[in-house]
Amino acid sequence: MAKYTGPSCRLCRREGEKLFLKGDRCYNISKDGTTRALCPFDKGERVTPPGPQRNGRRKVSGYQQQLREKQKVKRIYGILEKQFYMYYEKAEKMKGATGENMLILIERRLDNVVFQMGIAVSRAQARQLVCHGHITVNGSKVDIPSYLVKAGDEIAVKAEKSDNAFFAALKDAPIRANMPKWVSFDRTTLTGKIEALPVREDIDSRIKEHMIVELYSK
Ligand code: SF4
Repeated sequence: MAKYTGPSCRLCRREGEKLFLKGDRCYNISKDGTTRALCPFDKGERVTPPGPQRNGRRKVSGYQQQLREKQKVKRIYGILEKQFYMYYEKAEKMKGATGENMLILIERRLDNVVFQMGIAVSRAQARQLVCHGHITVNGSKVDIPSYLVKAGDEIAVKAEKSDNAFFAALKDAPIRANMPKWVSFDRTTLTGKIEALPVREDIDSRIKEHMIVELYSK
């Protein structure tokens, strides 16, 4: 499966805001657990978009704003264009607001759930854990990051893997701050549950999904 392999911080610089793609580093927590400014956005420096810099302010068109919003969401979740558009098409056929439905579908991806439960520090790491077969859904191994979870699903670390160093450390790690209420996770047993399907309020409030719908419906 194709994926972006370049520097993550470059994507944040392109969008002009923190997308939280690198786990602890984004929260300025270093490997030894100490806190210091690590994210370029928190270093007090001017953060410029990648590539050659243009002088002067340029007027940003409505189309450019919509395009940037779409790119931002794709980058937050680590999804490429073709699959992202499939979520839009699926959401369009559902009842209710298309933009909201699209975000809820994306939020239900198994890699996102593994991240939201705090099993992984970033969605990229969560995707890797799923792809490597470390995660089960209702007792069966699922190695497809785009698998859509349902309310009541039980998500767990595969029993045979639970003793490896990464998951052993997870048992002693603090509970993920701001874990959304639609998921729960028990660190002692490394099992979690989808308590309910997510609603719009559970999803990043910075996202302006109506702009993405406007872009795709042109
Ligand atoms: Fe983005 Fe900052 Fe994290 Fe780099 S450290 S990925 S710029 S939020």
